[in-house]
This record gives sequence, C-alpha cells and structure tokens, in this order.
Amino acid sequence: MKYRLKNNKASQLKVGTAAVLLVSVIGANTIFAKDAPKELETIHHLYSNGNYIGAVSQEDPVEELIEEKLVEVDQQFKNLKLQPSEDFKVVTEQSFSPNEADEEEVLDRLDGQLEIKASSFALALNDELTVYLKDRAAYEETVQLLKLAAVSEEELKIWEDQQAAAENLREVEAGETQIADLAISHKISGVTRQVDPAKVLTAEQAAAFLLDKAKVKVMVTKQQNEKQAVDYKVVEKEDSTLLIGETKVEQKGQQGEKMVSYTIREENGKQLERVAGEEEVLKEPVEEIVLKGTKELPTVGTGEFAWPAEGGYISSGRGQRWGRMHNGIDIAQPDELTIKSADHGIVKAAGAAGTFGNRVVVDHQNGYETIYAHLSSIDVRVGDKVPKGTKLGNMGSTGRSTGLHLHLEISLNGVTQNPLNYISS
Ligand SMILES: [Zn+2]
Repeated sequence: MKYRLKNNKASQLKVGTAAVLLVSVIGANTIFAKDAPKELETIHHLYSNGNYIGAVSQEDPVEELIEEKLVEVDQQFKNLKLQPSEDFKVVTEQSFSPNEADEEEVLDRLDGQLEIKASSFALALNDELTVYLKDRAAYEETVQLLKLAAVSEEELKIWEDQQAAAENLREVEAGETQIADLAISHKISGVTRQVDPAKVLTAEQAAAFLLDKAKVKVMVTKQQNEKQAVDYKVVEKEDSTLLIGETKVEQKGQQGEKMVSYTIREENGKQLERVAGEEEVLKEPVEEIVLKGTKELPTVGTGEFAWPAEGGYISSGRGQRWGRMHNGIDIAQPDELTIKSADHGIVKAAGAAGTFGNRVVVDHQNGYETIYAHLSSIDVRVGDKVPKGTKLGNMGSTGRSTGLHLHLEISLNGVTQNPLNYISS
C-alpha cells in the first residue's frame, strides 16, 4: 500500500516536472551590463494564472512543493490523474543580476496560489461542458449508462451490433421487441480538460446528473411483434327442418391467428405510445355456422299424449271422490317441477281460475283440450304455440289442493275423458 502510494508520487512528480520545464527561455537582456561582467545566474520566474508570483534560483524547492501538494490532493481524491494547473508557468532565464527576491516568501506565495488540477475528459451537451469524467473510458461508460437508462443491455447489444454491421433490421420474432432507433436529445461530445478534482464524477454520478438535472432524454423507437387471436364470425343459416326457435351448430367456429407489428415510442424507458401497424394473418379463422329453424311450430295435436311432468306418479284417478266427480287425474312427487304440454296445441287460457288455482288450458286443434291445474307459476300466454313438450309452468299447490301435485284433465269435443285412456306413467 505504502509502496504504491510512493510510486504514484513518483509518476505525478514527473508529470509536474514536465509542466514546469515546458516553458524555458534564455533572457538576453542583461548580458551587456555596464558593470564589470559577473557570473551568469539561472533565475526561474513563477507565474500563476497570468500573475507574477516571483523568482527563485533553485528549481528543487518548487518541485518539492508541487510534489507535496500532489500527495496531499491525491489522499483526498484517489485514482485521479493529478497535475499542477496549466495556468502555472515557470520561465527560466540566464541573468547577470542576482535574484533579489526573498525566495522563502516566493515559495509561500506559490503555496497559496498553485492549484492542483485533475486531468479529465469533459462531456459536453450541445457543445457546453457539463460533466467531467476521469478519462475517456469513464466518458464512454457514461454515454452507455444513458442508453441503458432506456433499454436493456441485451437490446442495446443487438442494436449496436447491427449498427456496426450496417445490416437491415432482422425479422422480429413473435412476442419479441427490438430497437429500431435510438437517439439522444442533445449532441454529446467529449474533450480533455483540466478541472478541480472535486468536480470529477463517476460514470454513474454523471449519468444520473445528465438524466435528472440536465434533462437529457434518450428516445427509443422499438418494433414489437405480437401474435393475436382472430375471432371467427358466426353465420346464421335458415333451416326448414328445424322448428322456429330451435338452433343447431352445423360447423363449430375456430379462432384464427395473426401477427401484429407495433411501433413503440419510449423516452428514458417510459412508453409514450404504442401504435399497431401491419398485420399478417397466420391462420384464417373458421366461421361458425348456426342453423336456425324456420319450420312453423306444430299446433295441431297428434292425438297421442305425453306424460306432462318430470317423473312422479298417479296419486289419484278419475271418478267419484269425496262425494263429487274428480274429472282428471293427479300426478304427485315429481323429480322436478316442470309441467309440459302433453301434445301440440295453442294456449287457450292461462291464469288463476277458482278451485284450479293457476291453470293452463291447451287447445290441440283436433277436438282435444287439456287442463293443467294448481301450478305455482305459468310460463305461457294465451295464443302461444306450444308443441308437445313445451314448458307451460311449474307444479304447485294453488287453488283447492291438499299438497304439491298436478291436476290434469283431457276432453274431446267438450266431453271430459279419462286421461288414463290416453297417457300412462
Ligand atoms: Zn285432481
């Protein structure tokens, strides 16, 4: 550690010495003096920032002072290339008149005025020096960090490789995004400059300053391809073999697939807009074909009656009961409550009707009528066409009823029939 520091000192001293010896002239103005010739003496005139500091006869104390200052500053700012300020100049001349300045005082003044600077690589925004980096590598890293504030390392590498090869943009795979353009809001350039060591920033600090304070924007255009589903159309086709209200899927629809290319504009990694562009159909959708029945609903009964409930059993037949005629049959304990038209027909009556409770009367247009009584709810209205099996309502216990059941009557030309002659469970 100590050894390294010493080494550093040595190299810095060399730099310092080089600067000190840069300007060297031989003054000839005093050669022809009136007095008897004296010995020529070497005098070093010291200048800082254009101001004359004084003259010394020996260079060594000056070099020592510079070295001391370099070491001192180096302890504060590690890893910088330190030098005496470029404003510091030594002009050496040969003179017959001796240096009459108090050299101690000159060195004190030098100590007070000599500035130690760091050599740096300055980054300019639109030609204005904005941040100072240690060297060119740090400058380039800063520019890279600006870009990485906007895009990923991987994206940037692909982009830069393509730029270097001057190739066309390659095809973007599905779901993939690639940079199509990358631009920085300011012109960025670099130049070597001496600067106060305290002003030298790391690449990270410099990039953060440029983005946050100097409002540098990294504008990126990206190309993105996305696979998307294409919805299928549903086409209805009339079908005369199906009843009105009935439908049947003749051909199932299948979604297609398309590739949509998006152009995305981002600023410092933030998306500003995403615009859909070209679309390429990868797979055509298959339309769904739905058949729609046009056949008139049958309203004329067949004369054959179907069981009007879902399950259940005949809990009471037709005949005299409790001193009065029971004109129909009772069906109880169904699997579920749906009551259905026993044959094709048209609703003749639907609603509350005395002891029947809620009841529906269906005219089968062939002389037969059926009555469905005690319903809890009715689903049809007078005039509805009710083909065999059409839901009329739900089984209930409305009207004169001792429990949940359906009371069913069948009549032919106005004369009640025994339903058991027509239907069976
Ligand atoms: Zn009954």
